[in-house]
Amino acid sequence: MRVLVVEDEQRMAAALARGLGAEGFVVDVAADGPSGLESARFGGYDAVVLDIMLPGLSGYTVVRTLREEGNGVPVLLLSAKDGEYDQADGLDYGADDYLTKPFSFVVLVARLRALMRRGPAPRPPVLDAAGITLDPSSRRVEVEGAAVDLSRTEFLVLEHLLRAHPSVVSKESLLDDVWGAGQRGDPNVVEVYIGYLRRKLGRERIETVRGSGYRLRA
Ligand code: CA
Repeated sequence: MRVLVVEDEQRMAAALARGLGAEGFVVDVAADGPSGLESARFGGYDAVVLDIMLPGLSGYTVVRTLREEGNGVPVLLLSAKDGEYDQADGLDYGADDYLTKPFSFVVLVARLRALMRRGPAPRPPVLDAAGITLDPSSRRVEVEGAAVDLSRTEFLVLEHLLRAHPSVVSKESLLDDVWGAGQRGDPNVVEVYIGYLRRKLGRERIETVRGSGYRLRA
């Protein structure tokens, strides 16, 4: 089994290479974001251990780029211990798992083996309606072929509208599914985000159905 370790701290990288080698993995090390990305693209690895704070490109950018390119290699992120970075973000960008430094080497090996058994994640189908395409695995959104940048919440609202298309989605179900069930949020927040989406996607693409909710206009 071949593992790529992308880590700029030399001692950490050497310890990982040595330890994983002793576990029977074939290990390569990359010491910055760009060379890590390049190796992950072309190296044919079974898994990648990816530090978040890297020179050149962050681990987030590396994993997001791989996913955008359709590369599903299992990725385990290593995050700094101070919680400066949000691990949930890493999973959003397409990582499969994460560990916070300092971590137990035994746990790292167990997680890696689990990821390798699972293999590359199957890619969920791209959603497509009303001139909008949304790729759930790369989180890429395009309107008439042009890329659009959405925040995490905007993305989730749009994903719900696309999955429901051509049906209407109620404000309440958006509130539950995007902001969390049981969270008695203000339904007006949904209107606010629909407004953001209209500005980014084109006002005409999201229709308000009075008294029932929203739907995409084909
Ligand atoms: Ca680092």
